Amino acid sequence: MSSYVIDAPKPAIIPVVGSDQSFPVRRIYCIGRNYVAHVEEMGGDADRDPPLFFQKPTDAVVNSGATIPYPTKTADFHHEVELVLALGKGGRNISEADAQSHIWGYGVGLDMTRRDIQGGGLPWEIAKSFDNSFPVGAITPASQTGIIDKGRIKLTVNGKTVQESDVSLLIWRIPEIIARLSEFFELHPGDIILTGTPHGVGPVVPGDKLVATFEGLSPLEVTIGPAA
Ligand code: MN
Repeated sequence: MSSYVIDAPKPAIIPVVGSDQSFPVRRIYCIGRNYVAHVEEMGGDADRDPPLFFQKPTDAVVNSGATIPYPTKTADFHHEVELVLALGKGGRNISEADAQSHIWGYGVGLDMTRRDIQGGGLPWEIAKSFDNSFPVGAITPASQTGIIDKGRIKLTVNGKTVQESDVSLLIWRIPEIIARLSEFFELHPGDIILTGTPHGVGPVVPGDKLVATFEGLSPLEVTIGPAA
């Protein structure tokens, strides 16, 4: 067995509800502009936007209960609460009919965003794909939840509800997201997909406590710490 010239990076993992085992994360895919009310609040046109995919680095994962530093180079750090898919099976050109069978479990997470850097037609890398930009709650196996295609998703900041919607309102529904994404990338077990945020995105500041919930899933709690 070969060894490494430096210490090997730690794998990113997400706890699994009711288990001592964890879900190992391979890649983190995200879809943008996937609820009409959110596209409209961002000034877009939901009728004409194709699915918009981007990635976050695997080590952007932050588990529930953590405090994340307020990031550098932003004065408008935003929350986006999203339903999260954890894939247990990969493939390419996956059909919509077969897509649900690739989901191992579900969680609720946050696509944290430097909103003042996003936009202008530039790449989203530094706006979306930075350190600690993906807090996520424990994964619940699909064997317990069944297929999720509806359900209330909610985010509170300091106890006040700021985002609330239902995942039945997704523009690109879950089987469509998996099918489309698998046309561009070969998907693998361990891949994570964030399904998009509903309306109500907004800024957070140091000291804020965020609680993201989806009925039937483990909640996510995260606190915003001082500037990094
Ligand atoms: Mn998002």
